Formats: sequence, C-alpha cells, structure tokens
Amino acid sequence: MLRSDTQLHNAMRIVSGTVKSTPTEWLPVLTNILPPPLRRKEALLRSAIKAEKTKRSLLYQMLRNTPKYLTTEWHENWTLTDVKNSCLVSDPNKGVEGMDLLRDVWSVLNRIRTGHGRCSSMMSKWSLKDSSACDCGYNNQTVHHIVEECPKRRFNRGIEGIHTAGADPDQDNGGGDF
Ligand SMILES: [Zn+2]
Repeated sequence: MLRSDTQLHNAMRIVSGTVKSTPTEWLPVLTNILPPPLRRKEALLRSAIKAEKTKRSLLYQMLRNTPKYLTTEWHENWTLTDVKNSCLVSDPNKGVEGMDLLRDVWSVLNRIRTGHGRCSSMMSKWSLKDSSACDCGYNNQTVHHIVEECPKRRFNRGIEGIHTAGADPDQDNGGGDF
C-alpha cells in the first residue's frame, strides 16, 4: 500500500472516530470520501480531461462520464467485499447517516457498524484486558454481542436500526463502552 494511502486512511480513522483495526474498506464509506485507488484514478482522469478538453477528442468524450464510472467501480468493489457488516450499506457512494451527530456518538455509531471497538474480545486481543468475557457471563464480548445479544446492554433496534436511524443517546446505555 502506498504511503499516501496509509496517511489518508489514518485521517479517515480520525474523522470517523474508529479504531486502528477497522478494515480499510469501511473508512471511505464512513467518511464519504472516494477510496485512495479510485482517487488516484480520478486525478489521472482529470488531468487527461484537462489536456484533451479543447480538442473535443474521442478521449474527452469518453472521460466526460468519469464520475459515474468511478462510483460504479466503487459500488462493484463494495458488493464484492466480505468485510464485516458490509451488508448494512448498499451503495458506498451515498455515505452513512450520523456525520452531524456529536463526535462521541458518531464514533460509537461507526465502531458498531464496523464491529471494531473497545469490547472485551478485541481488548483481550490487543492485550489490554485479560479476558474476552462479558460481565453478563457470556464468554466472548464482541461488538455484535453488545449490540444484539447482551442482556445488560443490547440496543432495542439492533445494528440495522442503529445504522439507519443514527444513535439515540436517550435509549442506549452501553455506548460509552466502545
Ligand atoms: Zn454481555
């Protein structure tokens, strides 16, 4: 991976409030920024368009459809990915809800979407906790467990409801744990 891609991914992690282990496929979706390889393609095509613009060439005619072509490519790439919870988002170009929420709520929302957050399962993998167990007694406290199953923290609307409607701080009691 290019160094500039790594920097862009780091910036996207900061913007989305997600943790380092978050799959990079998710970052452009959460931040509504074209993925780095497609950004490079766009830059290349833009300079080609600029160079050819006055000539009314065949290339120019072809490149006029650039944005559609790139959004289609991103859509196709996203459809093929097996990254966790990708089924929540049907079209990555459309972004996700909640960017206008308070930063900590936005961050929790994105950690739930990606399944990567400060749950016991991941904390123990990162050697920040001794056990992956949940305090409800379940042996593996994943984000999925917290959101969908945990008798102590479960969100009423489940992950689909959270993803589409945005977080509701009045209802959620476990969000701060992420
Ligand atoms: Zn639990």
